[in-house]
Amino acid sequence: MRALELTSLSSTSVVQRPDPVAAPGEVVVEVLACGLCGTDRHILRGEYPARLPLVMGHEFGGRILESRADGWPVGALVSVDPNVSCGSCRDCSAGRVALCPDRYAFGVDVDGGLAARLAVPAGQLSAMADDVPSHRLAFVEPLACCLRGLDLAGLTGGESVAVLGGGVIGQLMVQLAAGAGAGRVTLVTRQTPRRTLALGLGATDACTPDEAEERLARGFDVVFECAGVLPTFDQAQRLARRGGSVILLGIPPQEAQIPIRPFALVCDELRIQGSFLNPLTQGRAADLISAGLVDVDALTSRVIGLDEVGTDLAGEPREGEVKVVVDPHR
Ligand SMILES: [Zn+2]
Ligand SMILES: [Zn+2]
Repeated sequence: MRALELTSLSSTSVVQRPDPVAAPGEVVVEVLACGLCGTDRHILRGEYPARLPLVMGHEFGGRILESRADGWPVGALVSVDPNVSCGSCRDCSAGRVALCPDRYAFGVDVDGGLAARLAVPAGQLSAMADDVPSHRLAFVEPLACCLRGLDLAGLTGGESVAVLGGGVIGQLMVQLAAGAGAGRVTLVTRQTPRRTLALGLGATDACTPDEAEERLARGFDVVFECAGVLPTFDQAQRLARRGGSVILLGIPPQEAQIPIRPFALVCDELRIQGSFLNPLTQGRAADLISAGLVDVDALTSRVIGLDEVGTDLAGEPREGEVKVVVDPHR
């Protein structure tokens, strides 16, 4: 079968790999769609730890081609949770599966979904409605990460919410916050097309970071950081109101530091909370996408084949694009 391999840092090629075979308890998934994301760019540049050589791709789903697992018939449409945890350590027992010391991920630590087929343990699967268009499968994992952020924010209805960053995570977070009953959802980003997009997806307002600083400082009950760059981590603290929460979803550079104002943390009871991966949220994300309750078609910028992935990842994301999806059979 064909697969996109990261052979050494910055060097990818389409290679032939042996067809995978299901072990007991596993299924082989025919991959129909795999999303590209910022993490893949970080891996390519050596900025995110990964094992080489590697078939990248951690946002994927497809149809079961071979099954050695009860309850998962051949032909079923599924999404795959790429993060595999041990299930028995102290963190797993407490439901913090993303923090499991033995956790590994398809497309990061072991070969992933930028391939025609992949064998995965049945415990990683979520069933999808059979008529879901293939490209939507690539959004289940990012949406599951956003659901973790939503859970940590604890919205109960009527809150003012700011979302910093207009990429796929920001656009999904806008939809989830609006759906959870936020009274006001403001998307903050420099890119005009992304502000326009968010206004069509449930944002009540959209502005640039400078405008937010001038008009909206200390105005939000909840601020979601979805850009992963240092200026937004910094700004998020200034946009949250007294007693507010800052939920961090973007992945910053590993060694980066930003100033913290401990006075505000104490006297304003400001809560700053990290949100990592998709612990136990993948099934809910699969249900939302199966039901068509989250608009991911508007976030699909292009569908490309494996041959185009190398060039695409080597460059910066194109202006105005949100998500590029790969069809490995194209
Ligand atoms: Zn990703
Ligand atoms: Zn564990």
